[in-house]
Amino acid sequence: MKERGTLVVVSGFSGAGKGTVLAQVLARRPDLYFSVSFTTRAPREGEQDGVNYHFVTREEFQARIGRGEFLEYAEYVGNYYGTSMQVIREKLERGIDVVLEIEIQGAAKVREKLPEAVSLFLVPPSFEELSRRLHARGTDSEEKIQQRLATAREEAKEIVNYDYIVVNDTVDHAVEEILAILTAESCRKERRLHLMEGV
Ligand code: 5GP
Repeated sequence: MKERGTLVVVSGFSGAGKGTVLAQVLARRPDLYFSVSFTTRAPREGEQDGVNYHFVTREEFQARIGRGEFLEYAEYVGNYYGTSMQVIREKLERGIDVVLEIEIQGAAKVREKLPEAVSLFLVPPSFEELSRRLHARGTDSEEKIQQRLATAREEAKEIVNYDYIVVNDTVDHAVEEILAILTAESCRKERRLHLMEGV
């Protein structure tokens, strides 16, 4: 019986393909719990409330901040995003591994509060590729895309604070890298020494 679950924090530039990669990780590891964040951003086409995000108003988000409900939250490109503390805590206590897909300010807060969290940063093979992917997605205006690219350049300075860098050259390759990291983390002596008790 394993003890506490592992908290896995995944960040990456907007357009680095986090959503696609993580959906496939989940398909291969259905035992993982993917945290559904709260956001004040408008849903994109095809996004469902309660599945991709809990979509809330700024007023509701601020009320939740006031009630101390978030493990972390951040304002990113004009919208709030936050992780509910209660659900995460309950899963970890039950020994379930939890994946948070959050941006760097939030990841820094999680590392501060829960230093045992494992953090991964997903990068595209190049900046040119990132720009191409953001344009290909076709969901944001040119102004928003330029804003996201400028943000990515700033965020690149924070990558050094993460435990792992995952390169998303192909989705399959990135998925394999993440699965390998999860496996390696589960073999850490801190998680396994109890097996040796009584030897
Ligand atoms: P998007 O609008 O593209 O869905 O997300 C924008 C950014 O917000 C992404 O980098 C995503 O990882 C991040 N994000 C999503 N949920 C959360 C959250 O709960 N907390 C924080 N800090 N960032 C989040």
